[in-house]
Amino acid sequence: MTQEVKQKYGKEDSLIVIIHGGAGPQDPNKTGIEKANKALKKIAKQVVKKLIEGIPASKVACFCLQELEKDPQFNAGVGSALQSDGIPRLSASLMNGHKQSFSGVISATYLPHPSILIEKLQKRRAKVLTSPGTELLARELSLPVHSNLTEKRSKRWLKQMDKADYPSSYFDSDTVGCVIRDLKGRLTAASSTGGIGHEYPGRVGDTGTVSGNYASRFAAVAVTGKGEQITDDAVAARIETRIRDGMSLEEASNKTYQEALTKKRRYGWIAVSNKGEWGVTRTTNLLPYVVFNEKGLVDEFIPDTEIE
Ligand code: ASP
Repeated sequence: MTQEVKQKYGKEDSLIVIIHGGAGPQDPNKTGIEKANKALKKIAKQVVKKLIEGIPASKVACFCLQELEKDPQFNAGVGSALQSDGIPRLSASLMNGHKQSFSGVISATYLPHPSILIEKLQKRRAKVLTSPGTELLARELSLPVHSNLTEKRSKRWLKQMDKADYPSSYFDSDTVGCVIRDLKGRLTAASSTGGIGHEYPGRVGDTGTVSGNYASRFAAVAVTGKGEQITDDAVAARIETRIRDGMSLEEASNKTYQEALTKKRRYGWIAVSNKGEWGVTRTTNLLPYVVFNEKGLVDEFIPDTEIE
């Protein structure tokens, strides 16, 4: 897909993996997008290998997020965007479509890998946690607990520190996410984010909720972009409902896309269905992503020469 094409759809017989690197990358130039694309491809290959080995899709989806959380070019894990008080608050969620089970972490400050916790939370009674539960449980499970501040993010924050809430032009929307249809046709969606950057302290976006991440036996959808708009439109849950009620993935995505255009929304999503349909849709200019099947690359975001 190039920058002009805003919707892309396809169909695969068996395995499908889509990974995205956010609707408004930190480094929105050709080199930045190419770097993101390279990282996404490398991770996708490992994800496919694990799925072929028979590792459960939700476990593999969390592995995928972990790899992305380690890479500071993405706004997740270490290197997450800072809120307006200079503190990163990370959110992530996992939805096992086969079990229709959602787990999430909201506004965790000291977890470099919320993705590890969301996997563990699937098996617990309280499946969505915020602080102090996030850090308490991480300690109980002997998971790493430390600050996610980086020099690069801190310097970027210092430049904007007089802004109490994020300016509308500010859009570091490089959240990460993946959707998977495994070899048995089971669906999973997972997302991880540091938010928009410079938000009012304690602001909660869509990523730890079913508007940003939803999966069932019918479809799996992961969304990225302006969290408030995604929440207002209940994007992931809405697309899943449309597919569940009989629309094809393309019809459901296109209807949601047309509604988003009317409202001048800034978001995008990746989706797969139980029928093997897949789609990548966005109203934003950029959305680095890769689509893989069991044999390799099926589609990717190719930046045009000039990026405005
Ligand atoms: N949706 C995320 C949020 O609003 C940001 C993103 O997708 O990059 O927190």
